[in-house]
Amino acid sequence: MHQFLLATRNSHKTREFAEILGDGFDVQDLADIVELPVVEETGLTFKANAILKAVETSKHFPELVVADDSGLQVDGLDGAPGIYAARYAGEHATDAANIAKLLAELTRRDPAPRSARFRCFLALARQGEVLGIFEGVIEGAIVNAPRGSAGFGYDPVFQPQGFKQTFAELSPVEKNRISHRARAIRLLRTALLAQS
Ligand code: IMP
Repeated sequence: MHQFLLATRNSHKTREFAEILGDGFDVQDLADIVELPVVEETGLTFKANAILKAVETSKHFPELVVADDSGLQVDGLDGAPGIYAARYAGEHATDAANIAKLLAELTRRDPAPRSARFRCFLALARQGEVLGIFEGVIEGAIVNAPRGSAGFGYDPVFQPQGFKQTFAELSPVEKNRISHRARAIRLLRTALLAQS
């Protein structure tokens, strides 16, 4: 059994990791280990923030640690919300508030391009040392109004290229086949399997 700690308190991310990795992997997250410190995301890129979270968490935990830093880049908004995706409409903003702000900004800039991509960086670390970095990207577009109820975050407004549905209208199995996170996790899985 391969084990690691996922340095997140976002249960949606943890569920996607478990579903994508499947049998043979045991993923714990920070909800299980309350005493670990909260790492501030002070980096200016996804990669820097993934490394920061993995390295800092792994200084306080003896086993392998993985951190996920991800977000949405919208071309018509000059790459926003980017690394600030979770707090686009303010600290502790709800998904609905973030989506409302995104759609309002695009309307304000109409006819801004609605092409967009989700990007995910994973950093693997042990005891303060980075062992690997893995990236996944999926291209798509922002639809005019939210559709669907699966997933989390910006899923209801992101339509992946080649699909008529948003991420929130796809089944978890389908999202987890094509998503940015799935692509990065498959690279991570290969690295973890090669280690043992
Ligand atoms: P992080 O916790 O700083 O990596 O913030 C990630 C944020 O990006 C999430 O809170 C969502 O708003 C957004 N995000 C990342 N991945 C996804 C996804 O798979 N679907 C929808 N939104 C996502």
